[in-house]
Amino acid sequence: MTALLSHPERVRLLGLTDPAAIEELRRASFDRTTATVGDTVHYRGLIELSNRCALDCLYCGIRRSNRELVRYGLDRAEAIEAALFCAEAGYGSCVLQAGERRDEAFIAFVADLVAEIRDRSRSDRLPDGLGITLSLGEQSLATYRRWRAAGAHRYLLRIETSNPALFATIHPPEQSFASRLQALDDLRAAGFQVGTGVMIGLPGQTLDDLAADIGFYAERDIDMIGMGPYLHSAGGALPEQAMMARDALLTLALNMIAVTRLSLPDLNIAATTALQALVEDGRERGIRFGANVTMPNATPRRVRPQYQLYDGKPCLDEGSLECRGCLERRVTTAGRRVGWDQWGDSPHARRRR
Ligand code: SAM
Repeated sequence: MTALLSHPERVRLLGLTDPAAIEELRRASFDRTTATVGDTVHYRGLIELSNRCALDCLYCGIRRSNRELVRYGLDRAEAIEAALFCAEAGYGSCVLQAGERRDEAFIAFVADLVAEIRDRSRSDRLPDGLGITLSLGEQSLATYRRWRAAGAHRYLLRIETSNPALFATIHPPEQSFASRLQALDDLRAAGFQVGTGVMIGLPGQTLDDLAADIGFYAERDIDMIGMGPYLHSAGGALPEQAMMARDALLTLALNMIAVTRLSLPDLNIAATTALQALVEDGRERGIRFGANVTMPNATPRRVRPQYQLYDGKPCLDEGSLECRGCLERRVTTAGRRVGWDQWGDSPHARRRR
């Protein structure tokens, strides 16, 4: 995959702060999005299956050593109900996300869930059932194959940063950059459409790093991107003052969406929840800057506050409360229409088939 902007050009555009120049960048990205992936935005209902996690990522609120958190796991009936809600609401697909676990009970639970959701969500509107994206961390190739065979077809595993030295500063020594790369290769080998992404505004991260992250997406022939601002987490182990000032962080995160779109025009790019934690209409702004996917929270409301990756998590109330009209309005105010009842794979992934 060739990236359309040079590295120095990406660095320059990422660093824009002048409002007129940013508006020019935004407009170019929005128009490129229309020309390459079209004017539709796809909803994917986000179902946070469990906050139990075996890892200890220093930035993350659900890390193993956060003893303050009440841990939960949805049961089969609750998870299926949440997925069927997504199908009913017209989202077309859902994302099953959780902390990382590699025990057989969890692996089997997910395989069963995926098959059951695909089966029970079939309808005239969705003859193949709900599209299923998994975001369940690093697993063995055998596990990826099992989940793919059960009927999931997209997988999101963020590299977090493509700079190995920076990666080492935000993870404990036992979590290696090399094994993350291996997992991305294994996902491809298992037949998944592969998504990755980074956190933007990490302590010590430079514009050069972010420009290189886009190069990484290109080299790895990635199909979809989920990236968002790094936000401080009281349950994490990084100091609060390490978080960038909010306005500058929002500008950088939106610039990053636009520069990624201009570099890699035919990918799906998500406007993530973390953007909305920075500003109420953050996801709509992300769409204006070139995102074409958004992930309303479809987790049962009673456990949402416990899936606290960072402080100030928004959307504790959204989802079932929001009617089709409200969702439609969110997208149309950003100049797009909703791709109801579609899986919404990226043109990049469709070409691979
Ligand atoms: N366990 C799976 C994994 O590691 O891919 C999925 C869950 S993990 C919590 C999902 C993503 O949350 C991570 O890839 C990370 O980028 C993001 N995240 C965690 N803590 C964050 C923070 N403090 N600010 C922004 N994003 C964060």
